[in-house]
Amino acid sequence: MKPLAEAPSTMRPSGIREIMALVAQMPDAIHLEVGEPNFQTPEHIKKAAYEATMEGFTKYTPSNGFVSLREALVEKLRRVDHIEETVDNVVVTVGGVGAIASTFMALLDPGDEVLIPDPGWPNYTMMILVSKGVPVRYSLSPKNCFQPDPKEIEKLITPKTKALLINSPANPTGAVFPRETVEELVALAKKHGVYLISDEVYEQLIFDGGHTSAREFDKEAAISCYSFSKTYAMTGWRVGYAVAKPEIARILTKLQEPYVSCTAAVSQKAAEAALRGPQDCVEEMRQAYKRRRDLAVEILQENNMFICKPSGAFYIMADISRAGMESYDFAKTLLKEEKVALAPGATFGDVAAQTVRVSLANSEDQLTEGLKRLGAFVERRSKSK
Ligand code: PLP
Repeated sequence: MKPLAEAPSTMRPSGIREIMALVAQMPDAIHLEVGEPNFQTPEHIKKAAYEATMEGFTKYTPSNGFVSLREALVEKLRRVDHIEETVDNVVVTVGGVGAIASTFMALLDPGDEVLIPDPGWPNYTMMILVSKGVPVRYSLSPKNCFQPDPKEIEKLITPKTKALLINSPANPTGAVFPRETVEELVALAKKHGVYLISDEVYEQLIFDGGHTSAREFDKEAAISCYSFSKTYAMTGWRVGYAVAKPEIARILTKLQEPYVSCTAAVSQKAAEAALRGPQDCVEEMRQAYKRRRDLAVEILQENNMFICKPSGAFYIMADISRAGMESYDFAKTLLKEEKVALAPGATFGDVAAQTVRVSLANSEDQLTEGLKRLGAFVERRSKSK
């Protein structure tokens, strides 16, 4: 038989999945590897979904989503992101993943380069490869608290560059880019005629400072991608959306047809209820992550593993250089010896090879216990080197 398609057969799955597969066989392990809220979807959202099902929202929807949801999103974009959009600029997708992957499909021809962060979410690389593009990494140095350096990024732009992707608040670092940085990066993209894809799925999980939407600065070049997964603890409902100029939004709409047809009708109704209903659940979850962030900073500082204080999302990077181990090996050995699961830094890129990512999506007790075991493990390894 002829060979299978190269990119999907050869690309490496994310290291987080590898650890998740191992930890699945360990019922008593402490979970600090998952990028998923440990909260349940709020009751009023679940109830609205049940009612929508009973009312008959069980069929295909328009490819770009229900108009009623897109109208609610236009209001949300005004209220939360301070941007004026129309329903024609908004395309509802299967999660934030659907928004970002569709955007790559809409922009990339074979061989086109996309600048992505290092460290960055591993799925970007996989998405670009399946779209026949070429991922090119730009560094977010721990010395600079994982903030981008626009001058360094500019040096990486070539005639093949089609897009620059930014992610703030960031996974895995929790860094939140200042307003001026977002503005500068949008201007940089515009100057070179490349698109700026802004992954803003953690926009409502910020502890210090505020969020800046890339589309505030330019509606030609910037495409912003959002999700209900993290804000409303709705990972399993699979609802996200992309906001782009109408020319791109039309292509994103068309792209839903061959891949997913549309986002599930009942999930869209749940998302609508999330936007129209009370927002205190968002604030309560944000406060819980903030308390955990503060706790994790304190424990990592005590154990000489602290790098930078995250200002958003629900992750913190920990320095494991003292242990003298490669991060995959470190994560697997830690799991075996201490029953603590976390994500190896190397899965996010070379810059993070001496780190692990700790997820704050677990209770304060579990987080404290997990981080203490992590500290003890690094101490032991550093002495046995
Ligand atoms: N972008 C980043 C940086 C993420 O970490 C995630 C999920 O972990 C997503 C996008 C997409 O999430 P979803 O598809 O659940 O909206």
